[in-house]
Amino acid sequence: MKRILVWFRSDLRVRDHAVLAAAVAEADEVIPFYCFDDHYYQQLPFGFSKTGAFRAQFIRESVADLRVQLQNLGGDLAIRKGATPQAIKAIHEEFPLDAIYHAQEVTHEERQIEEAVRGLEIPMQGFWNYSLYHLDELPVEVSKIPRVFTPFRKKMEKYSHVREEIPTPEEVEIPADFSWQELPKMEELGLETTDTDPRAVLDFKGGETEAWQRLNHYFWDQKHLQEYKKTRNGLVGADYSSKFSAWLSQGCISPVSIYHQIKKFEREVKKNSSTYWLYFELMWRDFFRFTALKQGEQFFKMPENHAPRYSKKHFEKWRLGETGQDFVDANMREILHTGFMSNRGRQNVASYLVKDLGQHWYTGAAWFESQLIDYDVCSNYGNWTYVAGVGNDPRENRWFNVEKQAERYDEDGSFRKLWLD
Ligand SMILES: Cc1cc2nc3c(=O)[nH]c(=O)nc-3n(C[C@H](O)[C@H](O)[C@H](O)COP(=O)(O)OP(=O)(O)OC[C@H]3O[C@@H](n4cnc5c(N)ncnc54)[C@H](O)[C@@H]3O)c2cc1C
Repeated sequence: MKRILVWFRSDLRVRDHAVLAAAVAEADEVIPFYCFDDHYYQQLPFGFSKTGAFRAQFIRESVADLRVQLQNLGGDLAIRKGATPQAIKAIHEEFPLDAIYHAQEVTHEERQIEEAVRGLEIPMQGFWNYSLYHLDELPVEVSKIPRVFTPFRKKMEKYSHVREEIPTPEEVEIPADFSWQELPKMEELGLETTDTDPRAVLDFKGGETEAWQRLNHYFWDQKHLQEYKKTRNGLVGADYSSKFSAWLSQGCISPVSIYHQIKKFEREVKKNSSTYWLYFELMWRDFFRFTALKQGEQFFKMPENHAPRYSKKHFEKWRLGETGQDFVDANMREILHTGFMSNRGRQNVASYLVKDLGQHWYTGAAWFESQLIDYDVCSNYGNWTYVAGVGNDPRENRWFNVEKQAERYDEDGSFRKLWLD
């Protein structure tokens, strides 16, 4: 009898899931497992939690939905809180495991947790499960991944291809008499539940079911995909961009699934520069993940062009939307009250913190990590170093003139009015 534990982390879905599919195919019994690891709920030295309330709530909803998806296949989900290695060890003592299958992570902290689990001496197998392009289909060696986005994109488009979706297992066999346990409450994660701000672009709800509802709304009901390139720099409302990021970040939907829906849309509705552009943006997401894989720990240690600075006064004003620069403040209040900010906003506030206030990019990245519903380790740290001009595309002169940007993208001032009045 072969029993495999499927360790879910930021891949909270059953569709197009390499790990689950392999485990179900190979094992007699599977234990799907998720741990609210204390590491992610610790307080940071800046005075806020590594995972803030918006994302924690989204994760709770995503985990609850994953349990339902697995139950629909005859399975269930073991939910634990604490340290992942200890939680797996306790399961292994009662229900001996032959193997642990998991999605392969690329970043330092995630790999450290993986290493600690490896210490249990249960055979482990990692699967590539997060990006649009599979690691095996990279046309170059990891060490030779281009440093800059455009050559990376061109290489991928020319020499690689996106694989098909992996079929969802028909049935998940689980052990009887197992203690699956309940979802931890927000208070148990050290956080308070927050209500949705009526000004929020969207009432984000976590889970695979919600991810597909959002996709069906954006692609099929409203056909917004065909105008994405024209609207994507918007600031107000649900539909100026896809808003897929939160579900992608927790893996409630895979980029591969989205890609095939884009192709279907191109066949059945329209193919234009907008449909291409969503795919183009998904390649940015891949670029940062593959760059993190290539750079290892260095990904987080990009040197400042100047000596690192941290002034609590400046940082707090920026964080709370009280700098006096109205476009920056409006954006910072949006993320403070909703856990979301547009891409245009993110570029501007990041540039402002680093280039105008002269603060270390790392402090801003830490606040985004805490606050964003869609926080993704590679996209967040990759974009921060990119905007700061110290990352993969180190152009020192990348600077956003926030006043001009406000005039251009918030011409009638409605975004600033929404957040500042
Ligand atoms: C300083 C900074 C920090 C950021 N932090 C994150 C983060 O933690 N998590 C995150 O998902 N994105 C991050 N982004 C990228 C981008 O702002 C968001 O992905 C986007 O705003 C999410 O909204 P959307 O899903 O409607 O995007 P859309 O415009 O609809 O794009 C579709 C998808 O493409 C991907 N994408 C788009 N732009 C980028 C980009 N620049 N880099 C990587 N992927 C991209 C996302 O997965 C997104 O969901 C950051 C950008 C900046 C400038």
